[in-house]
Amino acid sequence: MSSPASVPVSPDTLADFFSGRHITAYCVADVAAIGAPAGRHPRDLLPCCRTIIIFGVVMPDRFFSGTEREQSEETNAIKHALESTTYALRDLLERWGSRSVAIVPFHHLVVEDGILRGRLSLKHCAADAGFGTLGDNGLLIHPRYGNRLALAAVLTDEVIGPFPTSDGTAACTHCNRCVTACKAGAIHDGVVTQTLCRNLTDYVPTLFRPLAWRLMRGRYSARLITVLLNTAVSCVEIRGTCTACMTACPYFKIPER
Ligand code: SF4
Ligand code: SF4
Repeated sequence: MSSPASVPVSPDTLADFFSGRHITAYCVADVAAIGAPAGRHPRDLLPCCRTIIIFGVVMPDRFFSGTEREQSEETNAIKHALESTTYALRDLLERWGSRSVAIVPFHHLVVEDGILRGRLSLKHCAADAGFGTLGDNGLLIHPRYGNRLALAAVLTDEVIGPFPTSDGTAACTHCNRCVTACKAGAIHDGVVTQTLCRNLTDYVPTLFRPLAWRLMRGRYSARLITVLLNTAVSCVEIRGTCTACMTACPYFKIPER
């Protein structure tokens, strides 16, 4: 079977793609703009990568203040939107002849040096791509959607963009509201200590935490935990149990346009 002919991807084709999925927040960046460290760079996942396409799904009010059932429905809806859009875009690019890799949050988790993270830090890539800036609570602040975007990305060897140009900037004011709101004391000097953050600690019984943190730092035990986590992640619903540092931030409220 012959390989598909390479077709240039234009800003209009991507705009149509995202508009058809009701996604209004996306950006396309030259991979050279991404300053991730070795091992966590887009080229570690796709060596021929030239472009990163990052998009965000807005987390609605119901995700934060709804009943438990409503929050669960919103979690599933966001997860589905991120996954289906990412895989559809990857498939589209591949049909056009590009080599592409889909990056979805909660997939390809890695435990290394005591830290749990994705193979790619979507929020750092987004900040490097000019899609927003990082706040002291570690969250991306987008000029229009504040800290409400759930992110995903597609890497491709196609040269596209960069576009669209930023529609303004928004930056952390270091107002300390997130620090005060974090009852776990996990935020200090613009750094979130993961082993204090409830979005990790709530999944680990108190008695097991010292052992769990030690295993996460071990060379071989961390690899074992990585395998177990990636197996479990497809079977359980991963939901942030705390959003206090997010909702306390002035960038949580999306201004009317
Ligand atoms: S609450 Fe204040 S300090 Fe924290 S991220 Fe938002 S703007 Fe920055
Ligand atoms: S998610 Fe909760 S526990 Fe984690 S840093 Fe934010 S406020 Fe603190």
